[in-house]
Amino acid sequence: MQTKRWIRRRLPVFIFTFFIILYVDFQLRSSSLPKLSVAPPRVPDALHRSIQQATSPTRDAQSPAGSNSSSSSSSGEHGGHSTSEGAHVTLPELKLGDIFIAVKTTGRFHQTRLALLLQTWISRTKAHTFIFTDTEDEDLRSEGYNMVVTDCQSDHSQQALSCKMSAEYDGFMASGKRWFCHVDDDNYLNPEALLSLLSAFAQDGDIYVGKPSLDKPITAHELLEGNATREVRFWFATGGAGFCLSRRLAEKMAPWASGSRFEQTSATIRLPDDCTVGFIVEKRLGVSMVHCPLFHSHLENLLLISHRSIPHQVTLSYGMFENKMNSIEVKGSFSKEEDPSRFKTVHCKLYPFTSWCP
Ligand code: UDP
Ligand code: MN
Repeated sequence: MQTKRWIRRRLPVFIFTFFIILYVDFQLRSSSLPKLSVAPPRVPDALHRSIQQATSPTRDAQSPAGSNSSSSSSSGEHGGHSTSEGAHVTLPELKLGDIFIAVKTTGRFHQTRLALLLQTWISRTKAHTFIFTDTEDEDLRSEGYNMVVTDCQSDHSQQALSCKMSAEYDGFMASGKRWFCHVDDDNYLNPEALLSLLSAFAQDGDIYVGKPSLDKPITAHELLEGNATREVRFWFATGGAGFCLSRRLAEKMAPWASGSRFEQTSATIRLPDDCTVGFIVEKRLGVSMVHCPLFHSHLENLLLISHRSIPHQVTLSYGMFENKMNSIEVKGSFSKEEDPSRFKTVHCKLYPFTSWCP
């Protein structure tokens, strides 16, 4: 009887104490949460978020076939610059001049497409931009541009385009620069946005960053010995939007990419140059591509790029789609007739003190 009365009297006290403990515990937990995310971003907030959006979800979502997949396993496995604890050797801060920019063009576009790039963004990156073409051009050479006149054919065939990409890769490997970036001659490249993007990655990592033009991995039929084939699926960054490779990854690609091997690999899957890069990175090396929304080709609707976000975009493009010009929507100093690509208008927004800007 007595114990029952004792319990009845003490029960409310126990219940009260229990809730007090729960409350205090909740307060402590929630106040310590923000401390987990105070690492200072190295790039402007908005851009940092977009890189994170670009890197984390897709990396998690993808699971390339093969046991040696994912970039984290590859960094531990090949070990070069990283310890097993994942501590990175700190390299000096990345500078624009550390980025090898390769522009693919052809003789008949020197006076038109290429001239527009030279007038705009290449004027800011001349020293480390390399023009890969198929036709000598004394005017360009005398103006001091880095020209690489390849022996490649001047058409739009898989072979001709792979031949130029192969020359771009070899040129980068010989340059000793830290990053390789490829663009087509209908791309505007924003150097500051590119530097911000690449600076946000581990500088000693295996990075392949760009944007796919397809919404799923491409399927290829890899040619094996004795005319057999094997189906392979992998992501690739569309060449027309531009893409970048870190030096460490580019070095690992050499067995399938250096010298004549790039064209051989391209022939093995019977797909163009940009697909070949994706095949080597994802299928031969087991490293996942980083999907980044800041690269743009004219295969997408460029009107969808918001005016406000233009300064953060890494690449832009223009081109005809169903007999209409597909270009970004940006108002400014030049009319659409004067500046159909909108590249001059963008350039004058980014660099208003350029001599020819109104
Ligand atoms: N290109 C080339 N030879 C050609 C046609 C194009 O080297 O005969 C290059 C061109 O300079 C550009 C890239 O290939 O850098 C893509 O060409 P384009 O934009 O005309 O075609 P897309 O593949 O984008 O439809
Ligand atoms: Mn194009």
